[in-house]
Amino acid sequence: MDGCRLSAEERDEALALLQDLIRIDTSNPPGEEGASIQLLEQRCQAFGLATEVVGAIPERPNLVATFPADPDRCTDRPLVLSCHVDTVPADPDRWTYSPWSGHYDGNYVWGRGAIDMKGFAAMAFAVVAKLKRLDIPLRRDLLFVAVSDEEAGTRLGSRWLVDERPDLLRNPEYVINEVGGFTTHREGNRFYPVQVAEKGVAWLRLAVCGESGHSSLPGTDSAVARLGRAVNRITHTRLPWHPSPEAQRLLEGFAAPRGYVGRQIASLISHPRIGPHLLPRMVREPSRRASLEAILRNTATPTSLCEGGNINMLPGVALVDIDGRLAPGQTTDDLIAELDAILFPLLGKDYALTVLHDSAPISFPLDTPLYREIEETILAADPGSYVVPSVIPGFTDSHNYARLGAVCYGFYPLRLPEDLDFTSLFHGENERIPLDGFYWGIEVLAGMLERFLTR
Ligand SMILES: [Zn+2]
Repeated sequence: MDGCRLSAEERDEALALLQDLIRIDTSNPPGEEGASIQLLEQRCQAFGLATEVVGAIPERPNLVATFPADPDRCTDRPLVLSCHVDTVPADPDRWTYSPWSGHYDGNYVWGRGAIDMKGFAAMAFAVVAKLKRLDIPLRRDLLFVAVSDEEAGTRLGSRWLVDERPDLLRNPEYVINEVGGFTTHREGNRFYPVQVAEKGVAWLRLAVCGESGHSSLPGTDSAVARLGRAVNRITHTRLPWHPSPEAQRLLEGFAAPRGYVGRQIASLISHPRIGPHLLPRMVREPSRRASLEAILRNTATPTSLCEGGNINMLPGVALVDIDGRLAPGQTTDDLIAELDAILFPLLGKDYALTVLHDSAPISFPLDTPLYREIEETILAADPGSYVVPSVIPGFTDSHNYARLGAVCYGFYPLRLPEDLDFTSLFHGENERIPLDGFYWGIEVLAGMLERFLTR
């Protein structure tokens, strides 16, 4: 990996790009990622990479840049490094430094997107630049892809790219994307989750019927009142446990330092009847418990009451949208059956669930050369740590790349200090990235790809 050590100039260059990206506000909505895509395109062109900028609308473009394989050695399908350049919005009044300052305080670079995921955009570009400077002959094309519109559902970004211009991605074998590769400290041990699966999405609309009429003569069985009861019931019902091989591997991975006993506890936590009672006793920290639980079952969260009607009328129908998420192996029909079991006793036949949008859970194998390379790289870069194949409750651009037949891993290596509450920084206030951990990640990723792309 010594060849992939960054020089002082390369460090400065990576830091400057990260700060420049943070200083372009790409809060989504509205997104307006044009300037940041243009900046990355210019940087790629300066390194002699061929670039294409495409999109459904000019203000929301996507970039595909190619570092081509050596024509005499090319034997494999491309590997993609993918990032999104949009961010969730930020309220500057609640931040220590402006979310668009890119302020460096001696330890951290601050700003919206520092972690999610302009940090990886700057990192992936620095890696491509490093490999280009080393002038190594690649066995496959290396693609640097920067997309818009991930945070609002990927419609104009990776979904558009995969649907409309899959030719630009050239049938990739692998995609490296968020979320994974960061140090996770637990009870004196260091873990590195590598994301190999994502939950599915089932966005539903619940329509509840009730007595209509003039609201000066109210009853208790109006559609709105019944909808309120339904929302309450859905919110307070824990849906059944669905232990999947993906969840099992994650639980076992974090239990690995405890050996045999750890494996036994992991298998009891994923047990459909024992797990729901055991998990709260074994995992006391609320956010960790919530994320483990979200991986073990489907969730259905009422998020948006649909407005309509007059203030002085009882409408015959009331609507709420429900953000449903599917555990690995589950389908939209499975979730609807679980909701029917809650709603039918409450509402009889006076309701309907319709599917607004759905997308199946995704998961990828561990027995690939790339996964092994990632694992070996981490264990060499941080001896004594543990690599854990992980599942995330949310979704990323990998949901779309998976449709191309690509194996997608979340591997965004970052060495993090123990006192940093990293997960709270995703979409949170005071998002920031430790600069030394960011440089460490560039060297780890560059070293890993130097080996993998030339082998
Ligand atoms: Zn992200």
